Amino acid sequence: MVRESEVRAGEVAVEPPPPTDAGLVFIGRIRTPWTQRLACPRQGREDGPTCRIEIHEPWVAALAGIEAYQRLEVLYWLHLSRRDLVRQSPRNDGATRGTFALRTPVRPNPIGTAIVRLLAVEGPTLLVRGLDCLDDTPLIDLKPDRALFTPLAPAQPGDFELGDRA
Ligand code: SAM
Repeated sequence: MVRESEVRAGEVAVEPPPPTDAGLVFIGRIRTPWTQRLACPRQGREDGPTCRIEIHEPWVAALAGIEAYQRLEVLYWLHLSRRDLVRQSPRNDGATRGTFALRTPVRPNPIGTAIVRLLAVEGPTLLVRGLDCLDDTPLIDLKPDRALFTPLAPAQPGDFELGDRA
């Protein structure tokens, strides 16, 4: 049986430094059909189940215009992950790789990302497909998929100085 927080043969855990407050705020929560980590898909699929992204106040106004995008990048906090492994054995076969060479949820800062298809916007709630996280996973950010992103207006000389919000 696979245990969720086990250290497998060959894996290396470290004593992480005390966390510092990066000032993150959770802007919402993600509702999915999965309540067990082992039942979650490893990566979302566009033909996966419809999931709900619920935005909390005061951030609902920040959704204005999002319906123009069919694909969004979603960033979420994999809140149940351990954070201390530097070498991991995804197949539990003794062969290990460094954490930063893997898309594992077990990482020093357990940020997950997914590109999702936006199906509908219902007030503060987005209906999407393509997620792979547990029900109630905290939401960090939403952005238009960079592959499809078009700036709102053509760039003008001097628009993008160092330090601008390009
Ligand atoms: N798509 C994201 C990425 O590539 O950054 C996450 C990939 S990660 C391999 C997905 C796995 O994380 C799921 O299969 C599940 O085992 C685990 N997971 C999902 N939600 C989680 C949560 N809230 N806390 C801890 N682990 C979670």
